[in-house]
Amino acid sequence: MTITLKAYESIVGRPVLAQLEELAENLPGIRVVHINSTRTGGGVAEILERLVPLMNELGIETSWEVIEGNEPFFEVTKSMHNGLQGNPVTLSPSARRAYEETNERNAQRLCPLLQGADFVFIHDPQPAALLKFCSNRRGLWFWRCHIDVSQPFRIVWKYLLPFVEGYDASIFSMAQFAQQLRHPQFLMRPSIDPLSEKNCELPTKELKEVQNRFGLDPSRPLLVQVSRFDRFKDPVGVIKAYQLVRKFCPAQLVLVGGSATDDPEGEAVLEEVNEAAKGDPDIHVILLPSDSHRTINALQRLADVILQKSTKEGFGLTVTEGLWKGKPVIGGNTGGIRLQVFDYHTGFLVDSPEGAAHRIRFLFQYPDKLRRMGEKGKEFVRENFLLTRHLREYLTLMLGLRQGLADHLIVE
Ligand code: UDP
Repeated sequence: MTITLKAYESIVGRPVLAQLEELAENLPGIRVVHINSTRTGGGVAEILERLVPLMNELGIETSWEVIEGNEPFFEVTKSMHNGLQGNPVTLSPSARRAYEETNERNAQRLCPLLQGADFVFIHDPQPAALLKFCSNRRGLWFWRCHIDVSQPFRIVWKYLLPFVEGYDASIFSMAQFAQQLRHPQFLMRPSIDPLSEKNCELPTKELKEVQNRFGLDPSRPLLVQVSRFDRFKDPVGVIKAYQLVRKFCPAQLVLVGGSATDDPEGEAVLEEVNEAAKGDPDIHVILLPSDSHRTINALQRLADVILQKSTKEGFGLTVTEGLWKGKPVIGGNTGGIRLQVFDYHTGFLVDSPEGAAHRIRFLFQYPDKLRRMGEKGKEFVRENFLLTRHLREYLTLMLGLRQGLADHLIVE
C-alpha cells in the first residue's frame, strides 16, 4: 500500500505538511542521492525506506542506492563499527585493502549518478570512502553518521578520518558525537514513520494471532526487546535482568531479532543468546525475516514494558517504536537512548541487569504509573521523532546550504 503525505495530516496536523510543501517548492529541480550498505535490517534502512518515497512525493528527485560488498568487506566494516563505538579492534592491511577496493568498485558503478546529484548523503562508515573515488563531483556531499562515535578507538577513527574530511559536512544524531573536523557538523535526530507497517495501529485480532503463534500467555506480564543480535544491544544482559525479575514474578521475555546483510557477527551472538536462554520456556528467542514489520509491531504492542538495554546506541529506533506504542522503555544509559528515555517520565535509564530488573519490578508493581509513562512517551515521540520532522530538517538543511552558496556566489 502506498502511503501519501496527506495521510499524515491526522497525526501531525495540516500546518506541518504545508510547511514541508513550501520548503520543497523552494528546491525546484534538485537531485538527491542517499547511499548506505543494506536495504534491510537496522535503523538506517528503516528510515530510508520511508524518507525516500516521501521526498519524491514532495517533488524532490531522490534515489537510494546500496553499496555491494563481499564477506571480507562486511567483516572489516563491522570491525570499524565496533571500533568507532569504542571497542579495541585491529584493521589489518588486507582488511583496509578490502574496504578501499570495495568502495572504489562501487564508486565506478555509482559515479555517473553521484556526479549529477546536487546533494549526496552517505550513511555510516561502510560507504564513507566512496567520495575519494568519485572525482568531478558537482553537488554537496554529507557524511551522515548514525553510530555513537563519542569515544572511538583512536586507530579506527584515524583511519577513517581522511575519508570523512573530504566531505562538505557531517551529520550526527547527538552533539556528544561531534568530532574535531575541518568541515561544518550538523545535528539531526532520526525518526520513525507512524504509518509504516512497523508502527501503524493493528487490529486486536492480529495481536491475538501473534500472541498465539509464539505461545505467549496473555495473563502474564511480557517484556520485549527487538534488536539485531549484536553485543552492543546486550541481549544476554536482558536475559539476566529477566531472570532476576522471574524470581519474584511470572514474567515472560521475548527477544526478537533478525540479521542485517551488512552484519556478519549476528550468528555468533545468537548462539550466545540461545545458550543463556536454554531451559527456560518463558524466554522466546524469535528470529524473523527482515520484512516482518507487522509481527514486530504486534510484539511491541503486546509488551507491557519494552527493553533496549544497549551499552552503546547511536539513537535506538526500537526505543522510539516502543514509546510510540505507549509503552515505557527501560533503556541502557547511553547515546541516543538518553534523548528518549527520561526517568519516571518515559521509562528508565539503567546501567546494569540489576538496575533493569529493579525498574521492571517497579513498573509491574505500579500499573498506573506504567500506563501514564506510556502515554507520555507516545506524545514525546509525536512532538520530536516522527518522519515529518526529519523530512523538514533535510529540506531545511539543503535549502539553507543552497541559499548560503548562492549568497557566496553573489558576493564573489
Ligand atoms: N529491526 C527489525 N527486525 C529485527 C531487528 C530490528 O525490523 O529483527 C528493526 C527495528 O524495528 C528498528 C531497526 O531495525 O526499526 C533497528 O534500528 P535501531 O536504531 O534500533 O538499531 P540499529 O540496528 O540501527 O543499530
